[in-house]
Amino acid sequence: MPSPSDHPRRLIWFCNTESVADHPETLVRLRDDIGLTTIMPESHVCHTSGFAASPEIAARGPFEDWREREDKWPKAAQGIYPPVAGTVSGYDDGPLLSLIDSARQAGIEVWGHFGLWSYGGEVYPEFALTDLQGNSLGREGSQSAWGTGLCPSRRRINEWVVDCLRALVRRYDVDGFCVDHARYPPPANPASLLACGCADCRRESGALGYDFEAMLEGLAELRSGMAAADAVSLLTTAGEAANLWEFLSGFGGGDAARLWFESRAALLAARMGEFREAVRTEAPSMVFGSDLFAPSIALLGGQNYSEWEDVTDYLTGGSSHGGVVGWGTSVTNLAAVWAEVICDRVPGVGDEDVLGPIYALFGCGHLQLPLTRPGLEQGGLPLAELFEWEVSQLVKLSSGRVPRYPPISAGGNPKLVRRLCRAVVEAGCEGAMLSLDPANGAILNVLSEELGAL
Ligand SMILES: [Zn+2]
Repeated sequence: MPSPSDHPRRLIWFCNTESVADHPETLVRLRDDIGLTTIMPESHVCHTSGFAASPEIAARGPFEDWREREDKWPKAAQGIYPPVAGTVSGYDDGPLLSLIDSARQAGIEVWGHFGLWSYGGEVYPEFALTDLQGNSLGREGSQSAWGTGLCPSRRRINEWVVDCLRALVRRYDVDGFCVDHARYPPPANPASLLACGCADCRRESGALGYDFEAMLEGLAELRSGMAAADAVSLLTTAGEAANLWEFLSGFGGGDAARLWFESRAALLAARMGEFREAVRTEAPSMVFGSDLFAPSIALLGGQNYSEWEDVTDYLTGGSSHGGVVGWGTSVTNLAAVWAEVICDRVPGVGDEDVLGPIYALFGCGHLQLPLTRPGLEQGGLPLAELFEWEVSQLVKLSSGRVPRYPPISAGGNPKLVRRLCRAVVEAGCEGAMLSLDPANGAILNVLSEELGAL
């Protein structure tokens, strides 16, 4: 097993294809100023690095008719592609080709980027996640701000994604891939937690050794055990449990919940292994991976860190805080939505009864987090402490056999950015995935001072 000291050090910039293609001098400056090694470009118009799908790929593409689905995807009117899996035709790859040239001249690696499953179900309901009975997630699932996922077990999509990857390796001079949306929708979306129960997921789950019917029976037993308990004792038990799994196993169904989430994660990991194999078949030196949900919630979103180490070449994330995948705000986002659902359904229960127990179940009861939803919405969260805690979980959940590049959103307050950088260095990680504004000299100074130690 390679030791962490053998792993490549990387500072990866999650950048915008068009704007960096217009300002290629930025690459040389960031290389010299902060030690940038790699870019992962994404176009905000097509949600890939800006690839053009080949005619053969487009001919078999499941998502080619998106322009005719304006009723489900209003942004089609502005020419903005829906976030779906693989590569969709019609995009001009001129900016990407020019960016790759500039990166080559600067000696900087390029990682290609495209999406997989966690969005697109609202535009393509025929491929969307279903509930445990195989029915549409319905209004609750599809109206969620967190997105509606595609089912991860549709062979038509996954086999075509394999071909997309192989075609991209042949057509573009990239050094690897960092795919996006390699997950179920965020666990903050409660409707998506009990998905997918379609025939394809049952088949793939069975192929991995899971007994789907037994899992459903266990989940039903758990559900009736929880329904029989009163709200006060549920919340008291939650506040005292060692973790979410211990709490849930106390209501019958054995370890049904844990088994269910492990089975979902195994489905995604199996596909990721196939995708990496496809890439390596074309070019053995190429690296393959994806961003991950924050360690504390990843298994609920379909990502098992230790399995991910088996099927990808590095562990990283999308952002350090904010947005859908921000590590430091994952539990607080989830807690706000879960508290709303619980308070709406259980008479006499308020935020202050619910939020503390939710934090305890996820292991961050020791942090000073707001105990009301307005408090969560007002901001002022201890972002540095939350991020440091998530990075410590990353170290616990991973073995170090692949490099770890946690996400650092390097905008805003330089003091916060300094603490985020220190958390990564002090945890012994091998680099970071950076979001940054190359015109912000104060932030570049912080990055240079703090990440130079890598
Ligand atoms: Zn499915």
